[in-house]
Amino acid sequence: MKTLYKSGGISISQIMYSNNPLLLSNNNRCILVDTGVKEKCETILDRIEKALNGRHLQALIITHAHHDHVENVASIKEKFKAKVIAQKDEADYIQKGISSPLSPWNYAKGEKIIKCSLARWNFKPTEVDIWVEEQMSLSEYGMNAYLLCTPGHSCGDLSIIVNNEVAIVGDSLGGMKKRPFAKKIHIASERAVTSWETLIGLNLKKYITTHNVIIEYEDLIAMYENYKIEVDLLRKLS
Ligand SMILES: [Zn+2]
Repeated sequence: MKTLYKSGGISISQIMYSNNPLLLSNNNRCILVDTGVKEKCETILDRIEKALNGRHLQALIITHAHHDHVENVASIKEKFKAKVIAQKDEADYIQKGISSPLSPWNYAKGEKIIKCSLARWNFKPTEVDIWVEEQMSLSEYGMNAYLLCTPGHSCGDLSIIVNNEVAIVGDSLGGMKKRPFAKKIHIASERAVTSWETLIGLNLKKYITTHNVIIEYEDLIAMYENYKIEVDLLRKLS
């Protein structure tokens, strides 16, 4: 299991090498972030069990209810008896077992979203135990960390800020590196851009996505500046 970050007793490790879930731990306190895709369910359950090594999984945080982040939520909750935590606008989707809206121009599992029935992205529903609004401390789970709502990619994305040094951002920074999205959406939603600015304003060392990409602060600034230049150009052309 690859460790992406370790400081002040807290470590962040990958359960799957190319994707979510991530495990956040501080000695015997463990929290899982996201759940991966259903095709990998057995492997994910086995790897979580090994990573826990007898420790209890206290909580399962869902960054957002897109199918590739939540499909195994019920299996993980059942097996490890963890409390499910999600932002209130995503919680409803998790309890109904349907993916929060996916961009129709996007692709999932090799198929254009618009071309397949939304039922394709359904999963086993489960109850969300803790509904987050704007922010929530994780101190009761033994972590110097908090949840922050950074919406725009989905309706209620959550980021996890750890030690005021790194953030697990889910897909909240998706779309800033516009290509290959440029043809379909020229400009990200106002909410997404506000969330990027909030995350940049935190001035953290690293921004860990749940798709095997870690962005350093300087690179994030460069991406954001580049985005703004390209958007201005597109506005002038249109
Ligand atoms: Zn997503």
